Amino acid sequence: NQYKAEVIVVGGGLSGLSAAKLLREQGVDVVVLEARDRVGGRTFTIQNDKVRYVDLGGAYVGPTQNRLLRLAREFGVKTFLTNEVEDLAFFSRGGMKRFRGTFPPMGGLLSWLDMNNLFRTIDRLGEEIPLDAPWTAPHAAEWDSMTMQQFFDKHCWTRSTKTFMTMFVNVNVTSEPTEVSALWFLWYIANCGGMNRIFSTENGGQERKFVGGSQQISIKMAEKIGNDRVLLNHPVSKIEHKPSEVVVQDVNGNRYTAKYVIIAAPLPIQNKIIYDPPLPSLRNQLLQRAPMGSVIKTFMYYSTPFWRRKGLCGSSAIDDKDGLVGFTLDHVMPDGSHPALMGFILADKARRYVELTPDERKSRIAHLYSKVFQTDEALHPVHYEEKDWLGEQWSGGCYTTMMPPGFLTKFGSYLRRPIGRMYFAGTETATQWSGYMDGAVQAGERAAREILHTMGKIRADQIWQSEPEDMEVKPRPFNVSFWESNAPSVPGLLKLLGLTSLLSAAGAGGFVYYKYLR
Ligand code: FAD
Repeated sequence: NQYKAEVIVVGGGLSGLSAAKLLREQGVDVVVLEARDRVGGRTFTIQNDKVRYVDLGGAYVGPTQNRLLRLAREFGVKTFLTNEVEDLAFFSRGGMKRFRGTFPPMGGLLSWLDMNNLFRTIDRLGEEIPLDAPWTAPHAAEWDSMTMQQFFDKHCWTRSTKTFMTMFVNVNVTSEPTEVSALWFLWYIANCGGMNRIFSTENGGQERKFVGGSQQISIKMAEKIGNDRVLLNHPVSKIEHKPSEVVVQDVNGNRYTAKYVIIAAPLPIQNKIIYDPPLPSLRNQLLQRAPMGSVIKTFMYYSTPFWRRKGLCGSSAIDDKDGLVGFTLDHVMPDGSHPALMGFILADKARRYVELTPDERKSRIAHLYSKVFQTDEALHPVHYEEKDWLGEQWSGGCYTTMMPPGFLTKFGSYLRRPIGRMYFAGTETATQWSGYMDGAVQAGERAAREILHTMGKIRADQIWQSEPEDMEVKPRPFNVSFWESNAPSVPGLLKLLGLTSLLSAAGAGGFVYYKYLR
């Protein structure tokens, strides 16, 4: 079959649909081709009696994610707060410590100084990185030649800080510090607004969830675009891009002729498509060099939220060699029903444990929770749900593409550079909250405006648009104490102590000289 449209969008996730919606609103004839039998891509909400509804993919939304919040508001999708009323838990070396705030307290002065200095350093270095072109940062070559592990080896002095930071990398980018480029990770934190914004529940990226689940936003966008223009079960297998038009072919043999195409699939998955003529050399290599992260998202349901009774909110960071889950959050419905703990199996742990059966994972996680939350009640879940994203054919992994050393400096400038009539969206091409749902929307709308500009409908300076702040979900500044700003680093302290000893020795010498020897 032959079809015609002005623009074809490859991929019906948040990014592709945001692009198509914007184009449609501007009167452009657009068709979305989606490989799966559903829209939403890396967002996926399931419904059943045991869970009512639950997001097995992207779920959390928070202040400064204004584009996603705007879409949710447009479709009447409300948000509710992730519970963080009670204490958070930090489980390490077999013991649990309660704490408040974003980061767990590190025992001992040296560990505290070390971690405090590292957080400051990551935010400070992040400020040097242009969010729209990290490869142009003054230290881009240096930072892109090292992994985050090498960065920690250079900047961390204590084992506890290194251990925590490994977990921090695992949770934020579902990869190991040994895999990711320091330039990319520093940029990633900066593109989410810094260490506090990315990791916090209250006032941060995990503050809220959507009532009814996040996939609704994609479903409602598809309805608005027109369900007859969002074609499911249409994996694109070939793109012929010619000077005058593009011809997009799906695996069913249908051919769609259009003026432009937007590719909004995860980067490595774009390599399943045949390009005719072949992609330019650097784009061709770009697609081979950045894999997807590894995560299994789990939900353990209980008859009561026993953790709350114990004064714990359900948020925990877990450092346990054989424990599957590294990070949990409370997952109770807004009306208090269906209590559960959400837990991520991350990076190497996801790869190590993906071949267990779901039942084996369930029982090992329940056992882990009994240690973390210090009660046998955790051993008696009433239901379990999980989603292994590693095996997803049309995602390749999650949450996002992770960029190894050398990627950004050698290939970064090709990430969203159009090739003839081909334009690029997808959260990986965003400059704010890249890797997140909000970044997907930014990227989709930007790619749509690039085409509107090429069509002569908008000016070049209208392609990138800032987003007004959401009227309800507002960011607050994070309070930084005097000590957090001014405390020395570990080497700073050692230097200070060295200097102090030197000065004391000199003082004592002087005293003895003046009193007795003069
Ligand atoms: P995708 O959602 O991947 O959409 C791409 C679409 O392209 C898919 O539908 C795919 O099927 C389709 N496709 C691929 N190849 C083809 C082809 N050849 N032909 C046609 N179609 C094709 N984000 C947050 O903001 N908050 C969170 O709490 C959060 N947590 C996450 C937890 C997990 C477990 C996961 C999986 C993700 C999480 N994310 C989170 C990330 C977020 O879900 C993604 O960043 C976002 O949904 C990506 O949207 P996208 O449109 O760019 O890509």
